[in-house]
Amino acid sequence: MIITFSLLVLLIFALLKKSWIWHIFHHEKVVYLTFDDGPQEELTQEILQILRQENIKATFFCVGDAAGRYPHLMEQIRQQGHSIGNHTMHHLNGWRTPLKEYLQDVQEAQTYLNARYFRPPYGKLTLCQWLKLRKHFHIILWTDISYDWSPKMTPERCFKRVKSAAKHGGIVVFHDNPKAADNMLQVLPQFIRMAKENGMTFKTFD
Ligand SMILES: [Zn+2]
Repeated sequence: MIITFSLLVLLIFALLKKSWIWHIFHHEKVVYLTFDDGPQEELTQEILQILRQENIKATFFCVGDAAGRYPHLMEQIRQQGHSIGNHTMHHLNGWRTPLKEYLQDVQEAQTYLNARYFRPPYGKLTLCQWLKLRKHFHIILWTDISYDWSPKMTPERCFKRVKSAAKHGGIVVFHDNPKAADNMLQVLPQFIRMAKENGMTFKTFD
């Protein structure tokens, strides 16, 4: 039986276990930009170009399946000095996947990613999954999520969701996913500009 816990419970763990999520209450002026679900042929290139122009580093939580299809993009991400995180092989929902199957999927993704960081797709893990994975990974959630992938969102609404991180710092999620492209490509430069104006520095988890 899969034991499920709500995000609220997991956030209580966050307070107890530093490895679950980093710097949620940090006082530095730091933004951790993260991109989930990639790499994708054209979109990843566009993100990398923006990051290069702005001279900032980010973390890409990649799906192993896509990493296997686009090794040249993985190489570019690494060469530009960004960090790579594991986002499972097939973007699995932890609450709907038995423990053994989930762990095997994460391990399969490691063949392509060799990552020290892990972010569960949908932010969903069972307690057993979490206990196993924390032995091998720093598990990273987020403080601000843009919902850039949602058809209900506009760039304005996405920006509203993340702009507090541009003022106070935090871990921000965008998606390296065609569904998110229209929102993300508009909001990302706007977010970076505002964060820089507020004196933020951009870091990876390394
Ligand atoms: Zn995802």
